[in-house]
Amino acid sequence: MIIAIDGPAGAGKGTLAARLAAHYGYHYLDTGLLYRAVGHQMAARGLDLDDPAIAGHVARALDPSHLAEGELRGREAGERASRVAVHPPVRSALVDFQRAFAVRQPGAVLDGRDIGTAICPDADVKLYVTASPEVRARRRTDELNAKGRDVDYERILAEIRERDERDAGRASAPLRMAEDAVLLDTSALDIEGVFRAAIAIIDAKQAEAARIRA
Ligand code: C5P
Repeated sequence: MIIAIDGPAGAGKGTLAARLAAHYGYHYLDTGLLYRAVGHQMAARGLDLDDPAIAGHVARALDPSHLAEGELRGREAGERASRVAVHPPVRSALVDFQRAFAVRQPGAVLDGRDIGTAICPDADVKLYVTASPEVRARRRTDELNAKGRDVDYERILAEIRERDERDAGRASAPLRMAEDAVLLDTSALDIEGVFRAAIAIIDAKQAEAARIRA
């Protein structure tokens, strides 16, 4: 069972994916971490993030231990990730690892930008989780303020718009909704509401698959 969850930055994909994995007892991979780790490795070594060949080399040498590093979650790491993620050699270096993860039993939840379109086009369930840029910026600002970080809403909104543009505008595996994905707009839902909506979609898909098999 493969559940693919795609969508733009800050739409709540990660929280949803982790909860779904726990609910169904499946493995969970936050694929953004792979791109964040590549960007981090490059920055730490003073390498040029915009050089596709060097970035591809770093991606091929990526080790699971690199995913556990503490600085990967922040905004700067996200920004670096989206810069290295435009390079085809980086994307192709990470395909095998993601596909091998996806077939882990009894199931796997992967979240990212191209899971339903490029990594797992045959996923059993595809969700496209989104929210307006304003709602995502508001949530992110509140989250950071709650952690005691003094951040400006307008600046976060500008960063979100810039990341959306880069992720959706790149030539290689751009962010877009797969034709057979179910759209989940979280603008007017809280975490619990998003979770319940996703469960309803997945349970219905599973029931239909069981009916077809029978
Ligand atoms: O999801 P997260 O914000 O951690 O992703 C960071 C960046 O990594 C994204 O903005 C995107 O550019 C890139 N990414 C990607 N494909 C994925 C996951 C992340 O290009 N499957």
